[in-house]
Amino acid sequence: MVTFSEYRAGEAATEGESANGGPEPAKSGCCKLAGVPAIDELFMREALELAMQAAAAGEVPVGAVAVAEGAVVGRGFNSPISLADPTAHAEILALREASRALANYRLEAVTLYATLEPCAMCAGALVAARVRRLVFGARDLRFGAVRSKFRIADSELLNHRLEIVEGVLGAECAELMKSFFSARR
Ligand code: ZN
Repeated sequence: MVTFSEYRAGEAATEGESANGGPEPAKSGCCKLAGVPAIDELFMREALELAMQAAAAGEVPVGAVAVAEGAVVGRGFNSPISLADPTAHAEILALREASRALANYRLEAVTLYATLEPCAMCAGALVAARVRRLVFGARDLRFGAVRSKFRIADSELLNHRLEIVEGVLGAECAELMKSFFSARR
């Protein structure tokens, strides 16, 4: 498990804390990656490049790519400040573009790649869009709603559950966040 928790200097985050309140089962981030298909790394690399564009624009560096049948159909990087839109998270922008590209409000064939664990809004949108699969890089211990704070994307309480893969290029995704926030201190 790769986590990002350093939003502010001195802010404590509890690693291993799960939405169910219990400790996470012990697992090694590197060993987990052994089974990650190269294709997942390829698209996560593209999401990372988008995250760097967000950082260059002074936005929190999160990037997302929507893929259907092996092709990128949507891209987004975190832009709430520049768009003056609190919903302009990378995942939402990628979903919007994918829906336009596929001319469908349901994205059942889509895999969404995000550099950071999606928040509650984005996880909810992924479920509403019936996205098939979510691949994310680092956990977000502060706002993450897929594993860290809530488990919205594969909840038994909802009508749609995504297949979830985490930790793909996780160290790089977390490092990008850390360096962004440490540069702002
Ligand atoms: Zn979000």
